[in-house]
This record gives sequence, structure tokens and C-alpha cells, in this order.
Amino acid sequence: MDKVPILEPSFELPEQLQDAHLSVSACYQCRKCSSGCPLTFAMDLLPDQVIRLSLLGQEEQVLGCTTIWVCSSCETCTTRCPNGIDIAGVMDWLKETALKRGVALPQPAVTRFHQTFLRSVRLGGGRLPEAVLLGLYTLRSGQFLKKLWSGGLFSDLSLGRKLRQRGRLRLSLPHRLKGVKEIRKIFNGAQMKAQDSGSGEK
Ligand code: SF4
Ligand code: SF4
Repeated sequence: MDKVPILEPSFELPEQLQDAHLSVSACYQCRKCSSGCPLTFAMDLLPDQVIRLSLLGQEEQVLGCTTIWVCSSCETCTTRCPNGIDIAGVMDWLKETALKRGVALPQPAVTRFHQTFLRSVRLGGGRLPEAVLLGLYTLRSGQFLKKLWSGGLFSDLSLGRKLRQRGRLRLSLPHRLKGVKEIRKIFNGAQMKAQDSGSGEK
């Protein structure tokens, strides 16, 4: 019989979530969150398991799981939860906490995409300029030279042209949002918090 691992709970985790207005204590494991999530096929823990393990203070498991990076923040789970738990918000908080604590990332490429996405939204003043996202990601992922030599860049450009023809990709900058100042404040506030805790977008 396999030895059962000894669990070492961190009772700080549920308290920290509560301080971030993301309390998970009301969860009664109905699993409505997991049954509505469109991405469970790619997750190593189901959303309800992430919530349960967070409540049990299983920091290592929740900060090191693939699920928090696979989550696309679509908020289906949050909408379905009968107890008003912001599961999507918990996933985001766990992502940022994993980065701050330097936890080994299960899928570095996905993390890089997540950070590039946020940076593109910031550059776009709250909107997402798709061409900027694609360009930045190709550069930041270290794929530019590889793709250039292998011809992959030309395939990407050809795919981009087809997407553009079908109206799926815009090369122009998006219209300016009315609340651009508020968006800047949110990003600046988040960056200050990250700097205070010794992390920050790289
Ligand atoms: S839907 Fe809410 S209460 Fe139900 S398992 Fe998920 S987090 Fe818990
Ligand atoms: S926010 Fe994340 S966990 Fe929730 S339903 Fe969407 S992908 Fe799944």
C-alpha cells in the first residue's frame, strides 16, 4: 500500500483570501463551478478542488497546479456558485501569489502569455490590440528567431492574413475608452502592490 503523504496546511491561506475579499469558507462542495467550467479537460485540479484545497490551506498544491494558469477568467464558475464565491477571482489571486512567491511554474509558456495579455491591455488603455498581443508574445516567448529560421513566421503571417480577411483580426489600434484614466489607475495600483511585495510584471 502506498504511503499516504502528510498534509501540512497553511492556515494563513484562507485568511489571506478573506483579506482580499475572496473568502472561500462558504463552499459546500456542490461542484456547480466545475460542472460549468469549459476548460476542465486541460486542468489537473477541478475548480471545486482548488477551492476546497485553498480552504484546507494546501498552499503548495494550489499554487503549483496547472489549473490556475489554464483558467481563462471566463467567470462561468463565479456566476454559477450558489454561495457567491468569486472562484475566477480566487484563480487570479493564486496566479499572482504564485508569481510573487517564485513558485515553479507548471507551464511557463502559458504564464508568459498571461503576462503579455495584461501588458497588451495596459498598452491598449483597457482594450486588447490583437496585433500588439501577437507581436509581443512572439518576441517575449523567445520564438521570434526560431520561427524566422524555420519559416514559422511566414505561416503565422499567412494565418494572420486569413484571420484579417474574415474580420477576426484587426491591425488598427482600438478606439480609446472613456474610462482610460481609471484603467491606468487600476494597473498602477496593481503594479505598486506587486512592487511592495517584491514581485512585478517582467
Ligand atoms: S459552486 Fe461554489 S459552493 Fe459549489 S463547489 Fe463551487 S465554490 Fe463551492
Ligand atoms: S473562470 Fe476559470 S475556472 Fe471558472 S469557469 Fe472559467 S475557466 Fe473555469
